[in-house]
Amino acid sequence: MSKAKGLIFLGPPGSGKGTQAQILAQELQIPHISTGEMLRQAIDKQTKLGQQAQSYVDQGELVPDELLLGLIRERLSHADAQNGWILDGFPRNVEQANFLDQLLQEELAQFSEQALNLDVSDDLLIERLLLRGRKDDNEDTIRRRLEVYREQTKPVIDYYRDHERLSSVDGNPDPETVTASLKEIIAS
Ligand code: AMP
Repeated sequence: MSKAKGLIFLGPPGSGKGTQAQILAQELQIPHISTGEMLRQAIDKQTKLGQQAQSYVDQGELVPDELLLGLIRERLSHADAQNGWILDGFPRNVEQANFLDQLLQEELAQFSEQALNLDVSDDLLIERLLLRGRKDDNEDTIRRRLEVYREQTKPVIDYYRDHERLSSVDGNPDPETVTASLKEIIAS
């Protein structure tokens, strides 16, 4: 029997990975798990996690790993995630990628991991982020988030490439074209 798919969406802020993850999760009937969205909800509700995470999110910094790792482990064990899942915004650094690998080996061996990277030009990223207008989409925070991406998240792409689990997709065209490219890769 083929394994259930664990899809990991990678790409800089503004690459469209959230939009694409949402569309594909709906089509494949698997949950879209966005750590950014989980954190925004926790901040809105002012839970303990929300209070601890708020200043990092507001400044465009990564939230410390210890706040997120247990959350991801718990989320991936839910009943709705047993046939597959799409992770959006996690892993964000190599430590998180190692954690996920270990989790997949030890507790979630029924999943085969596939990382999908959306490549988008820098000019288009900034244009899209400024249009989106989320609270952390002001110019200073955007600049910082792109820096954090280059310094900490880009090595995650190399990590999956080295482990031969990476596919890259051109994320510059219109959303429908990007969805079609992603579907082709997932089906292959
Ligand atoms: P996103 O919606 O993925 O752009 O995430 C928004 C913000 O949430 C980021 O700028 C980080 O502050 C925080 N965040 C989301 N995912 C992670 C993660 N995996 N590790 C650390 N911080 C994260």
